[in-house]
Amino acid sequence: MARTRKPRLAVWKFASCDGCQLSLLDCEDELLTVAGAVDIAYFMEATRGKVSGRYDLSLVEGSVTTPHDAERIQDVRKRSRRLVTIGACATAGGIQSLRNFADVAEYASIVYARPDYIQTLATSTAIADHVRVDFELRGCPIAKHQLLEVVGAFLAGRRPVVPPHSVCLECKLRGNVCVMVAHGTPCLGPVTHAGCGALCPAYDRGCYGCFGPMETPNAVSLSGRLGELGMDGRDLTRVYRTFNANAPDFRAEGERHAP
Ligand code: SF4
Ligand code: SF4
Repeated sequence: MARTRKPRLAVWKFASCDGCQLSLLDCEDELLTVAGAVDIAYFMEATRGKVSGRYDLSLVEGSVTTPHDAERIQDVRKRSRRLVTIGACATAGGIQSLRNFADVAEYASIVYARPDYIQTLATSTAIADHVRVDFELRGCPIAKHQLLEVVGAFLAGRRPVVPPHSVCLECKLRGNVCVMVAHGTPCLGPVTHAGCGALCPAYDRGCYGCFGPMETPNAVSLSGRLGELGMDGRDLTRVYRTFNANAPDFRAEGERHAP
């Protein structure tokens, strides 16, 4: 009887800090089960061993910031049956997309002694701006329980169940007192994608949007409230321009208030 081969998993890195790949390695209790269910065919963060060819599921961390990466992602897509992007860099361009609002040549001249050695694009963009993506998992870094759900779902041939609602709903489920209502602390929870379990408000801090925009965020309305709490246009631009600065909803709201 022919043995069925295990699905091949590949994990790719583009411009990123490796934090989302570490979230996979951080699945200490579940890692052996994952490793038993798949053939880890390419995962440089974890092993030098690699299997070339095609992959059943590719997880892609990081954004596209160089001409080489713009070519490499096309090759990754061709070799992947399913491609899932993980984290703020891969889904929205990451913190490095702040270059999109500035002059990248000026940055390079300040940071590098020999900027003429640097080959970089003028922008940092999400993987979905370059190739077809089967699912985007948000977060900076991603939440481990959501990652396991995504990997399990694709191995089972179904859509992942990752709620697209806001951090506010997680706050209510956790029983947090709303920091914005009770203390007037600015909070991006109403427009931010769930996944962290409302971590920051649980410690009396406002959310700063590391999971990126939720589905259908009303950022215009939230900005109105943040303005009442004392934020001016410059503050509002900066609050939307962090890890997910180039996510379309946050980018548009940041631009709307830009001086
Ligand atoms: S603290 Fe923030 S995330 Fe929590 S309910 Fe209030 S506005 Fe929403
Ligand atoms: S910034 Fe917002 S989304 Fe990120 S961990 Fe804090 S509450 Fe969660």
